[in-house]
Amino acid sequence: MTPTPEYFRKLDPKICTDCGNKIDEMHESYINQCDKCLRHTDHI
Ligand SMILES: [Zn+2]
Repeated sequence: MTPTPEYFRKLDPKICTDCGNKIDEMHESYINQCDKCLRHTDHI
């Protein structure tokens, strides 16, 4: 378990690069798309 500083989370908000929606932190770090857009990409 790695503690994440609050300031780091604020500086690096996870936002979907496709629609700009906020991405749930439960997703992997390499994911830059929300669940909705991610499904579209996964389908392709
Ligand atoms: Zn999206």
